Amino acid sequence: MNEGGLATPFRERAGRAMRDAFLQEALTIATRKFIGLRREAFDDFPEGDALRDRARAIKEATLQRLDHHLERLVASVEGRGGRVHYATTPEEARAIVLDIARRTGARMAVKSKSMATEEIHLNEALEAAGVTPVETDLGEYIIQLAHERPSHIIVPAIHKTKGQVADLFTRALKRRVEADPEVLTRVARLELREKFLQADLGITGANFAVAETGTVVLVTNEGNGRMVTSLPRVHVAIMGVEKVVPSMTDLMVFLAILARSATGQKLSVYTTLVEGPRRAGELEGPEEFHLVLLDHGRIAQIAGPLREALSCLRCGACLNVCPVYQQIGGHAYGHTYPGPIGILLTAMLQGPASVKDLAHASSLCGACVDACPVRIDIPRMLIGLRREVNERRIASRRERVAFVLLGALLVRPVLYRLAVRLGRLVQRPFVRGGAVRDLPLVLGDWTRARDLPPIAPRTFQERWATLEREGRP
Ligand code: SF4
Repeated sequence: MNEGGLATPFRERAGRAMRDAFLQEALTIATRKFIGLRREAFDDFPEGDALRDRARAIKEATLQRLDHHLERLVASVEGRGGRVHYATTPEEARAIVLDIARRTGARMAVKSKSMATEEIHLNEALEAAGVTPVETDLGEYIIQLAHERPSHIIVPAIHKTKGQVADLFTRALKRRVEADPEVLTRVARLELREKFLQADLGITGANFAVAETGTVVLVTNEGNGRMVTSLPRVHVAIMGVEKVVPSMTDLMVFLAILARSATGQKLSVYTTLVEGPRRAGELEGPEEFHLVLLDHGRIAQIAGPLREALSCLRCGACLNVCPVYQQIGGHAYGHTYPGPIGILLTAMLQGPASVKDLAHASSLCGACVDACPVRIDIPRMLIGLRREVNERRIASRRERVAFVLLGALLVRPVLYRLAVRLGRLVQRPFVRGGAVRDLPLVLGDWTRARDLPPIAPRTFQERWATLEREGRP
């Protein structure tokens, strides 16, 4: 499912995902695995907490002087012979890439995994312009074959079991492929090897870009990033403006916590540092290097309520621990970025109206904050979004009326106590086995999948008043 799937209401998309036995199996296996690996990696890393604080402080300081760091980055990249482009919108970013493709006569583009290119829907634009995009990250390759979109920030095909991938390969390659991860990887590697050699254009994202040196940093586990950046004649890297880091020393702080948070590794298998095009005397590397800096609503949020989300490293840890993501997976969110951080990023890129339902797709349990390497307070911003959706009258009328009534009740103690007494009477026919069950009408949504505790026979205030009367508070 993609943004096109938004024609179906979120509730239905989520329900469908929860009834999908294959998806449930794939999600359970993958999220449990990543949670365990992350925990072990940090248990074994006493400096972890201090580095997380340091990383957060670097991100904050960088955002405060983002213009300065971007200017430095531009100067450094151009000093190394690269070209920097600035795109305010996805349309501008696509036009820049297509222009480069046209000018260089590119017919095929190999890509390494990049959420920024997903965000601007680059593949569709390339295809329409007659340039064949080939995803070379295994997960991305799988979903490209399946004509789907990523369902996780770092594990795009997390929603597929190995049996489903084997069926997909069998259909696409017209020969039986075994459901064995090693076999599947070997098959993909053989298919992709030729493409690396044929491609004219290499397109990547960027995990970081170092302002002081003009270095674009790619963190991968498959080595495809190296091939994409060194074999084709032209390399285009596309990144959100917030990915800039001031110095190499700062970069080391992020590298120390990124892979641990994402996959539980001390460091990803490949950390590729790209510095401009091939220089005289060098044996490999592209003839041209382009860096596209993408704004798409980010700059406005430096002074906005979602500012903290600009510190995101896209490690995916908050998705793995989120009880909602664990149940519904990424496609049910319906946008490029799934999970709790995805709700905030979607609101940042497309405005709060785009997440009027998703803003409630969180239990606000705080597991995401605990897992986040830069301690982004996602629940705080989700509550802010809910408030905004309500105040700007984006939420449904029914929802707004419900919250107004609830608010009125909570600030009037006499009314509240009356409502509690009434509630005790009304709930009687529905209390079974220690929980309120099968409430009628719209309230039934609450009790269908939850154990709603009944209103206590005596409230805390009533018990306190009794204790006071008895002189033993
Ligand atoms: S919000 Fe934090 S945990 Fe979630 S993807 Fe971003 S950096 Fe990772």
